[in-house]
Amino acid sequence: MPFSHFGLKPEILRAIQKAGYTRPTPVQAAAIPKVMQGNDVIAIAQTGTGKTAAFVLPMLDRISKAGGERDIKALILAPTRELAVQIMENIRNYGQSLPIRVAAIFGGVEEEAQIKALRKGVHIVVATPGRLIDLGARQKLDFSQLEVLVLDEADRMLHMGFLPDIEKIVSNLPKRRQTLMFSATLSKEVESLARRFLYQPKMVQVGKRSNPAETVNQCVYEVPAHLKGALLLELVRQPSYKRVLVFTRMKDGADRLTNFLKLAQIKVAKLHSSRSQEQRLKALQDFKDGVIQVLVATDIVARGIDIDGVTHVVNYDFPVNPEDYIHRIGRTGRAEAQGDAISLVPKQDLNLLGILEFAIGQRLDRKRLRGFDYHAPIPAPLPGEKAPRQDWRKRTREANARKQAKPADSAPRNAAKKRRA
Ligand code: AMP
Repeated sequence: MPFSHFGLKPEILRAIQKAGYTRPTPVQAAAIPKVMQGNDVIAIAQTGTGKTAAFVLPMLDRISKAGGERDIKALILAPTRELAVQIMENIRNYGQSLPIRVAAIFGGVEEEAQIKALRKGVHIVVATPGRLIDLGARQKLDFSQLEVLVLDEADRMLHMGFLPDIEKIVSNLPKRRQTLMFSATLSKEVESLARRFLYQPKMVQVGKRSNPAETVNQCVYEVPAHLKGALLLELVRQPSYKRVLVFTRMKDGADRLTNFLKLAQIKVAKLHSSRSQEQRLKALQDFKDGVIQVLVATDIVARGIDIDGVTHVVNYDFPVNPEDYIHRIGRTGRAEAQGDAISLVPKQDLNLLGILEFAIGQRLDRKRLRGFDYHAPIPAPLPGEKAPRQDWRKRTREANARKQAKPADSAPRNAAKKRRA
């Protein structure tokens, strides 16, 4: 079904054409007609499937027909600031020819600009739940004219502990409204949220539950932990690794890896929750613009963030649970483009790999990089880096070597021991 069959306003169709979309993605084809009919909808769709447009396009259509007052007509709740900004950009893009105003409300930056935007009057608010409650309490946000509520990445919001905030926010919204819920997975908690906040919802489910996007080639490099950095470096030096998103488990791991790659002259930036909002947005922008080749991130960006043309996602640290894996690798192979997801798995993480393979019902390809020395010794620590384990190993190796070099030393002692016994 082409976009023109949905009954969207010509201004919206023009924006879609400008974006270069020739046909709706499966989640759009399934969800848009149901949303246009005014139904509550729960859509189970992974990021990268075009789900944002699936709710933004019909929402813009509805709001632009609703009249010119600058009342808040729609509220979109999203788990992270990055996702909120991205949704806002999508709304501005798809609604570029419509007189619709949108504001994003999220923590980590000065409130002033956000308050100013709200005072001028907006039709759509995109917000993370925490900051919305903070601001709403003081600014008395008026949601009395609200028509549409969207809960985006609902599973993620629940996972992040936003349920009490969501409950508080929804309790202040008009009961008669259209509620749309998007989630990558359909867990019991998501179902329960849907039962409480949605009215006779229509269900849209695209693809298999919890399965990685089919456009992603997945493989595993089994590699000793101390050689993960060296292997990653060899990989990103290959010409096909144009835009590489690397995930680490911890912030300090992201810091160390970024320094390591920087020293090797790789254009790299890092993105994690200890970075300021400005630093995070700049890193994302540089990555989008191709100023940097590698972005090292913790799971903060694993969900929802839309970066076009990510050629490779690398699990430098293997994710602890399958859901995170699915979301991480969903950052590549978006909207029909092919992408690669690579996991560097040391022995101690093979159990996690086994759990993942069981969960997705698929054994991932094992690969080896030709010419790479998988038996190389532990490299010297980076400048300024503490390496107690490496020192310990080095000392043990040296002590063993000394022992082997002087076998005569130990013989008389052993002989004496034996004699005493
Ligand atoms: P999302 O799942 O909403 O994060 O969207 C993933 C990517 O798909 C974004 O880069 C969108 O611009 C793109 N996209 C959305 N709808 C379409 C479409 N119908 N055709 C091609 N690309 C699309």
